[in-house]
Amino acid sequence: MIPSIENLNKEIKNCLYCGNDDQNNTLILQKNPLVKMIKCSICKLAYANQMPNEIFLKNLYDPKIYKSNLTNNSDKTKKLAQKIYNELEFKHKNIKILDYGGGNGELSKQIIELFNKNNINAESLVVDIYNSLKGEKIYFKSVEEFKFDKENFDIVLASAVLEHLPNFINILENLLSKVANNGYFYCRTPWEFELSKLIKFYKIKWPRHLYDIGGDFWVNFFKNKNDFNIVLSETSVTEISKKNTLRYFMAQFLKSISKFEFYLKINKLSLPKWPFVGGWDLIVRKND
Ligand SMILES: [Zn+2]
Repeated sequence: MIPSIENLNKEIKNCLYCGNDDQNNTLILQKNPLVKMIKCSICKLAYANQMPNEIFLKNLYDPKIYKSNLTNNSDKTKKLAQKIYNELEFKHKNIKILDYGGGNGELSKQIIELFNKNNINAESLVVDIYNSLKGEKIYFKSVEEFKFDKENFDIVLASAVLEHLPNFINILENLLSKVANNGYFYCRTPWEFELSKLIKFYKIKWPRHLYDIGGDFWVNFFKNKNDFNIVLSETSVTEISKKNTLRYFMAQFLKSISKFEFYLKINKLSLPKWPFVGGWDLIVRKND
């Protein structure tokens, strides 16, 4: 299902983050009507030049049709939970998690289990469009119900969700404002723009993905945020299934070059140059 002309909002002429109007680096998302993804030459955010409207997105994410892919795969989620957990350091023993777009809460559940093993209490508030939760110490609020009010969280998770939101920058800023001092923000985003240009059969998941948000954007973005430090910035766990052998090995190969780039660097948090990775993991910590 792709948006028709009635389902598209008006064309975006300036970068939605930095306002730059250079629209030269593009990728075709759909031909009729034409929608392109534009990669900003300044801040490196890639965005659809026309966003689908609210009605279209509501249908697209109808719970009867839509199932989130990562949260249904508990092995992959377990690996991811461990990766995040390894970077965390807390002095207190009651951890509050906000899991924005957390689906059935699987990632929260796995992280809570890791805390519990180390005698630390943890609970999570999952915010999503509908409730499909299972597990203890996990609570639900719908996107409409959830207010970005005074309550802060030790960990804010945004795993594979930001790229789906038309107002991504706004939500991102709101989520960052919910991170307690010495707390963490984790996100996983697709970095597929250059990969889709390089390999014909590798397609951006339009219209579900409205943005492509790579390691290059994240490093630039957090350079301007003095109250956050990057803790981890690297390729994410692969999303490609092993069933498609050629695609899987190609993805692994391209990713390994990114890992090699980081291996060679002394400063692991500098701007990543190799963009053919598929997805990015980022953890930042808020200063005291
Ligand atoms: Zn920009």
